Amino acid sequence: MKTIISKVSMLSYVITLIGFTHLSELNAQIRTTVLPDAGFEERIEKAVNEIRLIDTHEHLSTEESVLQDSIFDFTHLFKVYIRDDLKSAGMSSTIFNMIFNKNFSVTDRWEMFKPFWYATRATGYGRVPLIAANDLYGIRDINDDTYLELSKRINDSMKPGWYKHVLKDKAGIDLSIVDVGHVQFDKNFYVHVERFDDFIHVFSASEIIGLGKTHGVEIESIDDYVLALEKAFQSGLEYKMVGVKSGLAYNRILKYENVSKEKAEEVFSKILSRDGSQPRLDFESVKPLQDYMMHRVLDLAAKHDLPVQLHTGLHAGNGNIITNSKPTHLNNLFHEYPDVEFCIFHSSYPYGGELSVLAKNFPNVFIDMCWTQIISPYYSERYLHEWLETVPANKIMAFGGDYQHVESVYAHSVMARRVVSKVLIEKVANGYITEREAIDIANRILRDNAMEIFKLGGKSRDGADLPALSEPGPMHDLWEMVKMDAGFIKNWMVIGPFDAEAVVHSPTVAPPGFDKEYPPEKEIKFSKSYSGMNGDVAWKEAKTQKSGILDFNAIYYPNNGAIAYAYAEIESPDDRNAMITLGSDDGAKVWINSELVYSKHIWRGAVPDDELIDVQLKKGTNAILIKIENRGGRWEMIVRVVDPEGELIISQPGE
Ligand SMILES: [Zn+2]
Repeated sequence: MKTIISKVSMLSYVITLIGFTHLSELNAQIRTTVLPDAGFEERIEKAVNEIRLIDTHEHLSTEESVLQDSIFDFTHLFKVYIRDDLKSAGMSSTIFNMIFNKNFSVTDRWEMFKPFWYATRATGYGRVPLIAANDLYGIRDINDDTYLELSKRINDSMKPGWYKHVLKDKAGIDLSIVDVGHVQFDKNFYVHVERFDDFIHVFSASEIIGLGKTHGVEIESIDDYVLALEKAFQSGLEYKMVGVKSGLAYNRILKYENVSKEKAEEVFSKILSRDGSQPRLDFESVKPLQDYMMHRVLDLAAKHDLPVQLHTGLHAGNGNIITNSKPTHLNNLFHEYPDVEFCIFHSSYPYGGELSVLAKNFPNVFIDMCWTQIISPYYSERYLHEWLETVPANKIMAFGGDYQHVESVYAHSVMARRVVSKVLIEKVANGYITEREAIDIANRILRDNAMEIFKLGGKSRDGADLPALSEPGPMHDLWEMVKMDAGFIKNWMVIGPFDAEAVVHSPTVAPPGFDKEYPPEKEIKFSKSYSGMNGDVAWKEAKTQKSGILDFNAIYYPNNGAIAYAYAEIESPDDRNAMITLGSDDGAKVWINSELVYSKHIWRGAVPDDELIDVQLKKGTNAILIKIENRGGRWEMIVRVVDPEGELIISQPGE
């Protein structure tokens, strides 16, 4: 007996210990700043609840179309997502359809429904109808005693103005981004995105020809097919779409290889050569064409500066291949399309850690938590805690209802605000962030970030509206060049490689060759040759890539521990101060008219506008000489002349 008691007390002691550590684990936040003043919880919660939300993702149609339905009852709150849990709990499709068939009485349908409801009501999906019933209809619970009254109140509420009441007044949503296709909307409630998945997810000639017909293109070649896509995209632009959405994670793996046109054309011709009587080609056979078309869609998104929303993670419905929708499958696209802003949906549930890395690593990858808080409030809390520590706060969007009915959107918005409040309060409580930082973060992740990414307030995310950039001056001038993607010197005379004479490679100590005065520093004679690192060297013309990058690796090999020079000329109509910008891999020296204006030994990648160099140009021809060292790996540079008025002429040297 004694041993049992001691065992019981030991057990309860262990349980309390685990409980306590778990609780402290939740709050195991390091302190980095001051602890908050009393009352911070209420102030943060109030601030979060007062934010006018930008709802990043919905499948809402218009109030008119919904009100066309004649009778509404309790099942109205159970139409989406919860049905997946009801089926997961064992409800057959037949019973499901009977429950939603209004030919049967509400009572009979409730009786069939309730055993599955009681099994699923605790899930995140199950919380939604309960919150809606309570907050919108004043019904505390959905059970035997309330379902009839709830049905009556739902039916009574379905009148014009209900959408404004629920979305604007109750949920505090200013705008919802809807994903329901190429349709026009009530701009008071919605803006929209469009999908071009049909052009990607093709298997047969009839699908391709059909798309051509829809967009007025007779498709005989892959170019015709891309033209049809461009036409579809153009009509989306005319409808003022604010982004592109792809939901193909439901149909295939998210890995889209960068396929050559030739390879895609091969598959295209194979598909077109098959008539309807032949069985569909399998996925592996058509994948190259699909991957190619996804790249063409992203080309258009980049060209028109539209963000791209991608379904990742969990699939609605019952039974899919979750590993198909891992966000890391998309890695190559993030590299290939640096100018496209990818909004990764649904917190990539359950791959939140992968998403953390991708959003931290790639400037063009954003976290969109739409759908997540109803999938799992706990997952949402846990990962929002982590993402606020790993990802800049201007890269997270914390609310998207992802519903077809406003009542569920409302309930989801309540859960999303509660998750955001709770996480921020915990971070402030432990002194990880201040109350002011918390409220700033709340505004960003529930409103401002979406405004910027989808350009809903005219505010552009890249800071183009920063006052410092609009006031006249060098910053304004440089920004004008950046916007025009202009001013890069694209034609150079180059000579090399010379030896950097590096005995020991050091990021801080320049190799002797960096300061050695090789012949180009004494004279510019294009006809002359000199002894270099791998034998004699002479001047030759070199063109940069389209981006403006001059790649010495493509000109000189081997080239570890090498030095090269690039020469160009700038014609100026008068004496003036000017700015040139430099990006170099690795360190560099710059002379203007033989005067050294810049010198830095450094190991780095070549990034446009990394160094802003003020120079004096004289009337007439100005010589610019650049010396670039290479430790190893990439060896490149990019030089821009800041000339917003277009008065300077960059001439091909020696012309
Ligand atoms: Zn959705």
